[in-house]
Amino acid sequence: MSTIRRTAFWGLTVLICASASSSAAAADKLRLLIIDGQNNHNWKEMTPPMKKSLEATARFTVDVATTPDNKAPKDAWDSFRPEFSKYDVVLSNYNGQPWPERVQKALEEYVDNGGGLVIVHAANNSFQGWTEYDKMIGLGWRGNNYGDRVTIDDKGETVRTPKGEGPGAGHGPQHAFTVVVRDSEHPVTKGMPHEWLHAKDELYHGQRGPAQHMHILATAFSAKDQGGTGTNEPMIWVIPYGKGRVFTTVMGHVSGKGDPAIRCVGFQTVVSRGAEWAATGKVTQPIPSDFPTAGKVSLSTSDTDH
Ligand code: ZN
Repeated sequence: MSTIRRTAFWGLTVLICASASSSAAAADKLRLLIIDGQNNHNWKEMTPPMKKSLEATARFTVDVATTPDNKAPKDAWDSFRPEFSKYDVVLSNYNGQPWPERVQKALEEYVDNGGGLVIVHAANNSFQGWTEYDKMIGLGWRGNNYGDRVTIDDKGETVRTPKGEGPGAGHGPQHAFTVVVRDSEHPVTKGMPHEWLHAKDELYHGQRGPAQHMHILATAFSAKDQGGTGTNEPMIWVIPYGKGRVFTTVMGHVSGKGDPAIRCVGFQTVVSRGAEWAATGKVTQPIPSDFPTAGKVSLSTSDTDH
């Protein structure tokens, strides 16, 4: 082999290896689909920073499917046909009009067949009356007659309050609050501090629903002097649905650009680890070194310039 031919040979080999390893890296990534388009929150200021922080983990490729807006003509929905089965996990940042029945059925089949679903904040307000969705989310932003309520008492015991009793969905004024991990062995919460301070957010209380097979990973104390209920309200929970996994966090309120709740490193970690777990049942992402502590909020600065 001449020098020139040898150089060409090695050059080609390097090229082939480089392209093989980059496609292997892409193949290793989980495919995640964010759905947005309607929300009583500023979804346009939520999706880009969530997409960015998910991609920053190097664990996901992220696509976004945006529904028609709520003033669009009915036939605008004909083109809303998200291909759930192309994805490992679907993240809902949607709270609005009911989806066409074929899309509802497609989501049910997708999760039933093993797909992952992540519900963020007001996504659990959506779709009141969609029975299978209620089963997936367990608890939603509903009135107290809609279903049971689940909280955790001071001894760490789960308390079920029947429908019709106690408060329905609500929240007091936004404030920073302490998230208490209730299962430190679950892949999502393993390695997190037992208590950590979440940035200013709405603290949801009185969520209602069927709450079957619901496993609470973290709670926050809803203080009466903050307009709350005086008990530990679920903040993060998981529910199996068929062969699939559903992960919910009710944290993440955004009404304007740069709002702190979704810049919280704790929230971002919860979402990205929750999404990986919903997709695979495992979590490989480390807890970041700037994760909040019991006494200190930690805001990501990298996603304020989106
Ligand atoms: Zn909100």
